[in-house]
Amino acid sequence: MEIPHLIAGREVTGDLRGGPIFNPATGEQIASVGFADAARVQEAIAAASAALPGWRATGLIKRADVFFRLRQLLVERSPELAAIITTEHGKVFSDALGEISRGIENVEFAAGLVHLLKGDYSEQVARGVDVHSIKQPVGVVACITPFNFPIMVPLWMTASAIACGNTVVLKPSEKDPSASVFLARLFAEAGLPDGVLNVVHGDAEAVNALLDAPEVKAVSFVGSTPIAKAIYARGTANGKRVQALGGAKNHMIVMPDADLDAAADAAVSAAYGAAGERCMAISVLVPVGEAVADALLPKIAERMAKLRIGDGTDPATEMGPLITAAHRDKVAGYVTGAAAEGAEVVVDGTATSFDAGYFIGTSLVDKVTPGMRIYDDEIFGPVLAVVRVNSYDEAVALVNANPYANGTAIFTRDGGTAKAFEFDIEVGMVGINVPIPVPVGAFSFGGWRNSLFGDSHIYGPESIHFYTRSKVITSRWPDPSESQVNLGFPSNH
Ligand code: NAD
Repeated sequence: MEIPHLIAGREVTGDLRGGPIFNPATGEQIASVGFADAARVQEAIAAASAALPGWRATGLIKRADVFFRLRQLLVERSPELAAIITTEHGKVFSDALGEISRGIENVEFAAGLVHLLKGDYSEQVARGVDVHSIKQPVGVVACITPFNFPIMVPLWMTASAIACGNTVVLKPSEKDPSASVFLARLFAEAGLPDGVLNVVHGDAEAVNALLDAPEVKAVSFVGSTPIAKAIYARGTANGKRVQALGGAKNHMIVMPDADLDAAADAAVSAAYGAAGERCMAISVLVPVGEAVADALLPKIAERMAKLRIGDGTDPATEMGPLITAAHRDKVAGYVTGAAAEGAEVVVDGTATSFDAGYFIGTSLVDKVTPGMRIYDDEIFGPVLAVVRVNSYDEAVALVNANPYANGTAIFTRDGGTAKAFEFDIEVGMVGINVPIPVPVGAFSFGGWRNSLFGDSHIYGPESIHFYTRSKVITSRWPDPSESQVNLGFPSNH
């Protein structure tokens, strides 16, 4: 089966280059996808450009209607969509459903577009002069997404971009592109006109064609830090608005007063859920004090031993495989190399063998310090590194010195400590007794430092700002009898 591009509502296939799609749970190829070249991308941009005048002129209530219908369709078709995600990505079915429900929040937010696109009005700023501001679409928007949330991240971008009156070319991950095609078909079923949302598949060639096209006015990107940085540089050099969200290394601090059983539950859930392939996964545990570390680690290891790893379509499975064989081997390399770096492997996930697929067991590595590869790199697998510290101040300094700053969490029963943490910590998304603090759709999502390039966070209120240009109109309806020539600069006095 070849997964098609969707351009102006038409399925397009027949590219010179392409790649295989695997089921990571079996290692079998299940489909193939063509990679768009620059000419194919240009077709999609042309379709988006052609659809722009009609869509931006469509009444807001009619636009909002599309999102109400889309929400309903996503709810109804969730099982089908989750099955596609589990088959191409590997995450367990319940997790795929969770991803869909978080993406639906962005559709619900976008459905409020009549309110979100309101401008301001000041009457009588000078005698007989009024000023108002309006928000207009930026034009054609490129959305480039990673493999790890094949429906949620496309919804982070497309919902708000389209609600604001823009048209979109979406370039999903070439590893699991079917969910984006499914989404575009649901949008069409919900009443979105052809050409408003186009999907093209491909790799760097397709992305570069989007970044270099003058018709593309804004770029939303989510992926790894090196690519995010490069996308930001090339897009902004071409005069585009760019938000490029990158990788992460999220720390979970456990204070001596925390409930250690609850902290162990949270650490295991947040480190190993989705096999650690979440940009908000906890990858570093920071117990404050040796006593906390010594008590907490056995609780974590005990829970790890009970995790059921297997095919995500089995309802009993809690953790699925990694996305590719190459990624599994890379993750394994961090664990096998940890001891040589001076760390202590408490649970070695590479020791478990599996019959087929890209599975790896869960790992827990103690006595990790900055400077070790296992600490410095984003691993993006089921590996939890433990950095022991002696005080709250040391924990905060560790997190604030890390080049990544996507999410972090503190576990404590002390309100004063939690409040201080909120003030002291230099990270974009913070959890207090919440290990994966992904903001709800009415707030915006984004990290600091190397976790985001650009100045706008994604979805929520900041997305309305990102996907619109403001225009300010100063108006006067003078009495013709008072008209006169006046060469002075317009003044309000
Ligand atoms: P990736 O950077 O490899 O790919 C992301 C997108 O960029 C894909 O569409 C891919 O086709 C494209 N791409 C890849 N190489 C390119 C190149 N050289 N030039 C132009 N485009 C290129 O990321 P991934 O492996 O798909 O996803 C995992 C990464 O995404 C992790 O680092 C994870 O932390 C990050 N992520 C971040 C967030 C966030 O919100 N900050 C959310 C999800 C994932």
